[in-house]
Amino acid sequence: MKVTFPHFGNVYIAGKAFFEELGIEVIPPPKSSRKTLEMGTKYSQETICLPLKVMIGNFIESIEKGADTILLTGSCGPCRYGFYSILEKNILEDLGYDINFIVLDPISEGIKVLKSNVYKLFNAQNIRDVVKAGKLGWQLIKKADYITDLSNRKRAYAVNSYEVDLIVDRYYKTAEKTFGAKELMDLMDDTINKLNKVKLKDKFNPIKIGLIGEIYTIIEPFVNMEIERKLGHMGVLVEKSLTPTIWVEHHIKSYPFGSKTERIKYKKAKPYLKTLVGGHGRETVGSAVYYAESGFDGVIQLLPLNCMPEIVAKSILTTVSEDYQFPIMTLILDEMTGEAGYMTRLEAFVDLLYRKREGKQWKNII
Ligand code: SF4
Repeated sequence: MKVTFPHFGNVYIAGKAFFEELGIEVIPPPKSSRKTLEMGTKYSQETICLPLKVMIGNFIESIEKGADTILLTGSCGPCRYGFYSILEKNILEDLGYDINFIVLDPISEGIKVLKSNVYKLFNAQNIRDVVKAGKLGWQLIKKADYITDLSNRKRAYAVNSYEVDLIVDRYYKTAEKTFGAKELMDLMDDTINKLNKVKLKDKFNPIKIGLIGEIYTIIEPFVNMEIERKLGHMGVLVEKSLTPTIWVEHHIKSYPFGSKTERIKYKKAKPYLKTLVGGHGRETVGSAVYYAESGFDGVIQLLPLNCMPEIVAKSILTTVSEDYQFPIMTLILDEMTGEAGYMTRLEAFVDLLYRKREGKQWKNII
């Protein structure tokens, strides 16, 4: 079995070391690129949401490097993600690829299939093996996310923000050459040390922006056009409302009640949206309220074109923005999104946040 999975932010780094440690051959997905998206767009339905198109491109690239098994998390929520694995399997079969899918559906969908998939995937003979592998995966994901978050914080305060990019890019490149958890953990520690040595500006109070919206678009830098870096270079402190760590904490570690932070967000969303609308639509609304109440200057909603839950959330965010007098901007992303226009909108939004801070008049550009 040669396993691959979609490129999903920094998860490929943790995923590669995790499977290597378990003795399973892994083909980490190559970084998503224009070529990945073009291939995915060519073979997917035109109106399907953006993540599926990029994933199809990821899978074709990994299959061409030898992968024969695709790992995917499942969903039962009222959005297209619940059909992703079936759609993707059909598309790949139509292209002539004979590929095995392992879908980790939510526990609520039935424990039997999930158990057998987890045992197969974790190379486990018993529950102790599963717990041991799970703990390792959790450590790796948490540390990979810590580095992403640390680099975002350092970039906002750094005297030379491009120094942070150099450290992070070197880390990504070297991670591809490491083998197993120990080598990767050492590299991660070394990267953290380097990031902590970056020279920071004195008495600097950066603009703070929360990134909210569809999970894949928040986490995958190719899809969101490296929004964290772009804002960081403008001296903006970015916090993501969803990360792999937050997802695991909520859906796996704290099952069945959910994590405390996410439950708080549901509560905050409730006056505006009482029910599940699929994807992370409810979290988007709750996160906007959360950031408005937490002293952030504004939020940016990332919405992949045709994403039903985020369209619902977008219509509600106008009211949240008015109620809290809180700037919110929505960025819609698809394969046609151009970098120049995207950058102009980011700059205009950051300008608006500075104006608001200075007590000048501002008008939302949601
Ligand atoms: S959340 Fe939106 S973009 Fe993601 S799978 Fe569902 S509909 Fe598509």
